[in-house]
Amino acid sequence: MELNKRDKQLIWHPFSKEKIADLPIVIKKAQGSYLYDEKGNKYLDLISSWWVNLHGHGNPYIANAIYEQAKVLEHVIFADFTHEPAVKICELIKEKLLDPLGRFFFSDNGSTAVEVAIKMAYQYWINKGEKQRKLFLSFSGGYHGDTIGAMSVGAGSGFHDLFKKLLFDTLSIPYPETWDDDQDILEKEKNALAVVEQYLEECKDQIAAVIIEPLVQGASGMRMSRPDFIKQMIAKLREHGILVIFDEVMTGFGRTGTIFAFEQVGIMPDFLCVSKGITGGFLPLSLTVTTDNIYDAFVNTDSRYVFAHGHSYTANPIACAAAVASWELLNKSETKENLKVINQEHIKGISYLKENCKDNIEKTRITGTIAAFDICANSQISDIQVLRQKFLAKGLLLRPLGSTFYLIPPYSITKAELSETYQKIYEVLEPV
Ligand SMILES: *Cc1c(COP(=O)(O)O)cnc(C)c1O
Repeated sequence: MELNKRDKQLIWHPFSKEKIADLPIVIKKAQGSYLYDEKGNKYLDLISSWWVNLHGHGNPYIANAIYEQAKVLEHVIFADFTHEPAVKICELIKEKLLDPLGRFFFSDNGSTAVEVAIKMAYQYWINKGEKQRKLFLSFSGGYHGDTIGAMSVGAGSGFHDLFKKLLFDTLSIPYPETWDDDQDILEKEKNALAVVEQYLEECKDQIAAVIIEPLVQGASGMRMSRPDFIKQMIAKLREHGILVIFDEVMTGFGRTGTIFAFEQVGIMPDFLCVSKGITGGFLPLSLTVTTDNIYDAFVNTDSRYVFAHGHSYTANPIACAAAVASWELLNKSETKENLKVINQEHIKGISYLKENCKDNIEKTRITGTIAAFDICANSQISDIQVLRQKFLAKGLLLRPLGSTFYLIPPYSITKAELSETYQKIYEVLEPV
């Protein structure tokens, strides 16, 4: 039997309408920016395989680091033990962080990185012996993962409505999303800040922390916000000691044009959650980075102060070795140059589409290596799934979020490939 039919009998795919889903495409191999299916078709991976891949598929430098590590030490319990790749990746990332951010806690995916931050923030206030703070501020449209805690702070994304009764309550702030030629952004930001003020008035000493995806909300459709807004919001919250969690699971490792998005906001959070790109897209790994101030509240001989949390594969050495190799590639001058080239091609391509597909697309927006636009609701071509198929037929892997199409390519993509991509997008959006 064909592989995709064998799959269909056994496997339950994520986020899939199993009833109507097409047979999955069987990918045989992946090299650089391309995926190759069993029929010999190739697809340009414009979504970096769910936002994880950084340097292209099959990168030999990372592959070799994994091979070498696997031969020496594949895994060891991370309580009471440590190893070189774990320490090394933390030392490397630390170089990009400013004090006081510099205490690293490992887990193995974005959701757990967020769970860790939520639990640490909650326990921090208990350990400090202060009035208990159990409220979290989050944003409409914010997505932080699919485990219960991450779903709670991500309730505003609408992805988890079915589970509402299982989730803890959060205070939701309207997210001031913006796009090219947006006239109303200052008004939107003012409203959001007014809501923040309101919450502070009502219950400032019950709020443990705020969580935000800085600069770009990923899952709710690559919705972008201005660094200035984030800065103003945080300044207000910090007056009352409220902790700040930056969920950079998607934005980290160069996506927004800087290694981390917080560099553009100019603020160090109390918790930084990273995952997805950390291993270049080879293996699952995540980090919750926090400050000495937070850490010190857990340093005590009394076991009630301990952070009692851990995962079996915490700091897996092979994943850490992949992360070290990926970090080295990320910090090469060629890679930094590529980030700029991708951004410039987005600017060219998006302005071409804006000019020539006026009736079909709106809300064009770019941050660093991420570009997005929405299909107009009243456009002639508004069947999103048909568009997706047409892009696929042209060899472009684009996966819409609602009515949003977005590009978040691996850094291996060339100027020519990206420019050709925009030409093909134009052909699909404006059929002659
Ligand atoms: C993907 C994502 C998560 C969840 O990460 P998983 O590894 O899928 O659990 C959390 N936060 C953000 C911003 C994400 O994009």
